[in-house]
Amino acid sequence: MTITWDWLKQKSFRLNDPNLHPTVAQRAWEVVFEAWKRGIYVLITQAYRSIAEQNELYAQGRTKPGKIVTNAKGGTSYHNYGLAVDMALYTPDGKSVVWDTDTDFNENQKKDWMEVVALFKARGFKWGGDFKSFKDMPHFEMTFGFSIAQLKAGERPSRPSMTVQVPEPIIIDKKEEKYTIPTAKADRILAILQAQWQEKDGQIKQYQVMWQAENAKPDKCPQKLDEFHQAADALRKEQRELAELADEIRKASGRKAVNG
Ligand SMILES: [Zn+2]
Repeated sequence: MTITWDWLKQKSFRLNDPNLHPTVAQRAWEVVFEAWKRGIYVLITQAYRSIAEQNELYAQGRTKPGKIVTNAKGGTSYHNYGLAVDMALYTPDGKSVVWDTDTDFNENQKKDWMEVVALFKARGFKWGGDFKSFKDMPHFEMTFGFSIAQLKAGERPSRPSMTVQVPEPIIIDKKEEKYTIPTAKADRILAILQAQWQEKDGQIKQYQVMWQAENAKPDKCPQKLDEFHQAADALRKEQRELAELADEIRKASGRKAVNG
């Protein structure tokens, strides 16, 4: 299967959580979209996490079964303030979610995971893979300069009053366009315009012949030469107008090339 943007964006619905800081959501959407364009399919597995959810996660591998997945108790993770996201990758067939940091699925000689890391960093995120103690490879956070201590004390980065825009690819599909002039009718109009254009062409050639004949005379008349010249120029202007008109008709009918 080909992974479409419509399919992929549904999977990262966590970015639509209103508890997520809008700038974090916007930049993360951009990352997911840019990666998709490169053939890398990012899944946002976690975004905002409540303090209760964080405590549940902290208990895992400690007071509850499972592997330890976090060193952060409730209130000590940027996720709890809507300032962090976690990622995973879809395999190109869309069938598996992987935390594979080495594979070059899109075959451009770069590790896909690291390509995504670069996209996040370019948008102001700190990467968990750069943490000194607990390396958290799927984790990205935007702190706005706020420490966990400040956040716990109730301080918050300001939230811009923006609407998060999910990026959308620009698809140019000619079949979808609604033309205002049916092709058959356009062809008839174009034929009429073409005939008029050729008629003007014939007249221009006549003036050219007349100009040459006059110019060859020993007693040539400059006024006549000028008159023939101007008449031909006026006809050329009319030809240009006909050509512009034909272009308009072509655009309105979906005809591309001259003469259909
Ligand atoms: Zn995380």
